[in-house]
Amino acid sequence: MELDSNVRYLKGVGEKRAKCFQKLDVETVWELLHFYPRSYLDFSSPAEISSLTAGENCCIKAFVLFSPTEHRIRKDLTIFKTVVSDGTGKLTVNIFNSSFQAKKLTENNEYFFIGKVTAGSSGPEMSNPTVKPADSDEPFSPIYPQTAGLNSNRIAQTIRNAVKFFSELPSSDVIPDTVRRENQLCHELYAIKNIHFPTCEKDIEIARRRLVFEELFVLQAGMLVLRRKNREKTSAFMPHDYTGRFISSLPFTLTGAQKRAVTAIAEDMKRDIPMNRLIQGDVGSGKTVVAAAVMYSAVKNGFQCAFMAPTELLAVQHRDTLQKMMPDDIRVGLLTGSVTAANKKKLKERIKNGEADIVVGTHALLTDDVAFSSLGLVVTDEQHRFGVRQRGILSDKGENPHVLIMSATPIPRTLSLMIYGELDISVIDELPKGRKSIKTYCVDSSYKPRVYNFIKKHLDKGLQAYMVCPLVEQNESSRTAAADYAEKLQNTVFSGYPVGLLHGKMKPKEKKKVMQDFADGKIGLLVSTTVIEVGIDVPNAVLMVIEDADCFGLSQLHQLRGRVGRGSEQSYCVLISNSQSEKTKQRLGTLCQTNDGFKIADADLKLRGPGDFFGSRQHGLPKLRIADLLEDMITVKNAQQAAKSVIGEDETLSMPKNAALKKAVERLFSQTNTTTLN
Ligand code: ADP
Ligand code: MG
Repeated sequence: MELDSNVRYLKGVGEKRAKCFQKLDVETVWELLHFYPRSYLDFSSPAEISSLTAGENCCIKAFVLFSPTEHRIRKDLTIFKTVVSDGTGKLTVNIFNSSFQAKKLTENNEYFFIGKVTAGSSGPEMSNPTVKPADSDEPFSPIYPQTAGLNSNRIAQTIRNAVKFFSELPSSDVIPDTVRRENQLCHELYAIKNIHFPTCEKDIEIARRRLVFEELFVLQAGMLVLRRKNREKTSAFMPHDYTGRFISSLPFTLTGAQKRAVTAIAEDMKRDIPMNRLIQGDVGSGKTVVAAAVMYSAVKNGFQCAFMAPTELLAVQHRDTLQKMMPDDIRVGLLTGSVTAANKKKLKERIKNGEADIVVGTHALLTDDVAFSSLGLVVTDEQHRFGVRQRGILSDKGENPHVLIMSATPIPRTLSLMIYGELDISVIDELPKGRKSIKTYCVDSSYKPRVYNFIKKHLDKGLQAYMVCPLVEQNESSRTAAADYAEKLQNTVFSGYPVGLLHGKMKPKEKKKVMQDFADGKIGLLVSTTVIEVGIDVPNAVLMVIEDADCFGLSQLHQLRGRVGRGSEQSYCVLISNSQSEKTKQRLGTLCQTNDGFKIADADLKLRGPGDFFGSRQHGLPKLRIADLLEDMITVKNAQQAAKSVIGEDETLSMPKNAALKKAVERLFSQTNTTTLN
């Protein structure tokens, strides 16, 4: 057995339990060792019975005065009762329906009891306390997240076996000795033992500090290795910067931020190491135009470009936009799942022969049989929807092509560095001139009639509107609800107006038709799910109404709102919510106050907490098991520093002293389907 063996090889775990562990995301022994307790039961400082307060959770240490007696209350309720004493007072213990638990308590023996104290008729009581023999040398009991078939005790028992196995392995710390000493961290084994089975509170802290550091250190080291790897070489040598030519052909002038981004990218592409750059900018800040300019330049340098979008809908739009912007001699192709087999085959031929200059597509671009003749630049839009690995696959189709990633999810600046450690970053923090800010209102549903009239007023002027419902795409019944809503509106308030429906489960062809009809103005009011969240660009749409707005995160609402405000007309966003919660009102209020995505991201982070923010792994990061990017910000910096110095000395982590670190990096990044290191 090794650390990466499946847990079923551990004592006490078979196929069946291994399956239960899988539900907790624990497959290997290593993962089990790093499956940390949610909290601990503290038996280290029991209170005196005479000083207990009813209503509080307490720990006492007391003798059982007599073996529990059985009281049958009803057919389905038996209470086992006993009285315990610690010399300062007596307490009644009730155990419901479990003769098994009751039998554990024997007369004249001493135990710890943890539970909520209540005031009974004859003094303090505890019902169904957690019990532990007084001679136990484990003053803390770890509490683990449990699942059906696996309770916390069972998990603790299994981890005990795993720790024993781990302690017998030849020691090889993931954190090199020098780093460990410099940062005053304990050994790996000590940390693992004490995070699960601590003997005092201080030990938990020492263990946690080490494990947080380790996690961030491994993460940073991994990103640095990836980055170095990407720096190997590129065959996409683009000595000439043709972006100026493209830019002067545009009907508008670029903003300062756009110009800076274009210049940075053009400079990157002149070098012989591959670019690895993130453009971060709010919706509508003009990222696509920046990408277009550099793609133009790449093509003029003799290279092909791939442009990857997260959805079919967006791919189609990007293709259309690019086709409009590019001169006729630049050939733009579209490769998505719904292109007919015959057309796909033709296009693949053209890609292979170098007859397609820019290929826009979804993940269909990633299939094995798509081969480029000279792929020089890969652009991915809305990066958070792709894993690091997917990007990697596309890059492998060229010889280390330049990579540009566009993200419309502003994240607090302090965290960018951490999350995108392997990337250079350009921030587009300026909106094109003349863009009117979107007026945003938050109302409850009693305003609906007025909102409907407001929509009609705009439709009558030939403008268009979106109405978004909080529907989970996968949910069968919800989908019907979306359809119902559209139908209801069409048949009642909006009879005589063209109402359309769009949701994620429609066939790509249907979606495309609806979007086309909306873009052509044949649909006035588009009722949809969040599928319209990213990228859709219809400047004539000036109204965004969001039903049950409290169901969405702030950043998501901001993304949705970004679908309007793209033309010259004043745009509006109406958030409908009946929530009475002050917190929710405050959250939604943020949107009414500002249009700045970075400010909103900050507020979102503060209100939801980083756990939620990063919980969805929307940034393509590996799951963090113990570190908290906000709370542990100082550790983030120290770990980053340490990782830099280690990688600076040993770029590929091939020195023997870094062997354990290398293994840890591979382990961490294999969870996120990242390309493996070599
Ligand atoms: P993003 O991709 O960042 O959401 P886009 O590149 O799609 O933004 O730009 C949004 C809209 O603004 C497009 O219609 C685009 O043509 C227009 N646009 C982009 N840059 C400028 C600019 N500097 N001045 C005026 N309009 C611009
Ligand atoms: Mg966009």
